[in-house]
Amino acid sequence: MTYVLAIDIGGTKLAAALVDREGAVLRSATRPTPREDVFDALALLIAEMVAEGPVPVAVGIGCAGPLNLAVGTVSPVNITTWRDFPLRERVRELTGLPTVLAGDAQCFALGEHWLGTGAESRSMLGIVVSTGIGGGLVIDGAPLLGPTGNAGHVGHMTVDPDGDPCACGSRGCVERYASGPNLVRWATENGWTPSPADSGPAVGGTEATGEVVPDGAMLARDAAAGHPVAVAAFGRGARALAAMIVSTAAAVEVTHVVIGGGVANAGPILFDPLRRAMDELAGLDFVKRVEIRRSRLGVRAALAGAAKLAWTAGRPTAAPPPEPHDAR
Ligand SMILES: [Zn+2]
Repeated sequence: MTYVLAIDIGGTKLAAALVDREGAVLRSATRPTPREDVFDALALLIAEMVAEGPVPVAVGIGCAGPLNLAVGTVSPVNITTWRDFPLRERVRELTGLPTVLAGDAQCFALGEHWLGTGAESRSMLGIVVSTGIGGGLVIDGAPLLGPTGNAGHVGHMTVDPDGDPCACGSRGCVERYASGPNLVRWATENGWTPSPADSGPAVGGTEATGEVVPDGAMLARDAAAGHPVAVAAFGRGARALAAMIVSTAAAVEVTHVVIGGGVANAGPILFDPLRRAMDELAGLDFVKRVEIRRSRLGVRAALAGAAKLAWTAGRPTAAPPPEPHDAR
């Protein structure tokens, strides 16, 4: 059996797994991302993965962006010690293996297309709605990465040219309406405060001072309970997402959209108004047919996508060396 080494790098965790051609995981591990010496931590994780064999045939990496695939460098927003860090070359040197790199949201899309809820789709858009909004496209079965690896940046598609300025420099980006912090921001500006938690364990966000810091989970809970401003925040975010999705579908003819990330955990609170807005905004027949689905793999999707990337793009063109003879 041959394996590839899949790696998922984010601001909070490093994950790695040995994955076979069918997507089965032989071994996996996750570590918190340290503030410094991130590559040392990654090297330790890789060593742990391969210590007991078998030696993988290629490495696939999904990394938080921005990145530049033309030269193989990454500058993740939340890993401040990596700026134009030559990740692809460093991992290639470390392992001696063909190494392929893509964005984490691109890997999310590829993973859902391979093993998740987008599995029977030919062309799909994967969207991660979380602190920010990321995306990835799989077109005719292959990842669409773009010349520098930045295809699928759907969070910064403008849905209102006269909208609020966005941190990216543009205006009216969908992220400004639908990311977790922006849902909470809009709701708070419009008079929402989190309802007191029911009995049972507190839902995150309570600081040591006892002061409640509103978060997306609280907003989703209140929306589910019918709080009008909370419901309106998700409706507004869903409408922005729908505008982005119909535009993307019109441009590249995706048949399926798979949505993951923390905000997707709100379930029907997000997906019901999203489907209603799609019905309203989709005009062309092939856009009307787009199916919206929720991620099945969740946090494992990016790792699965990194493995698929290694299987499709990272294998050496020559046949792999024969397995060493077993002397027993
Ligand atoms: Zn933007």
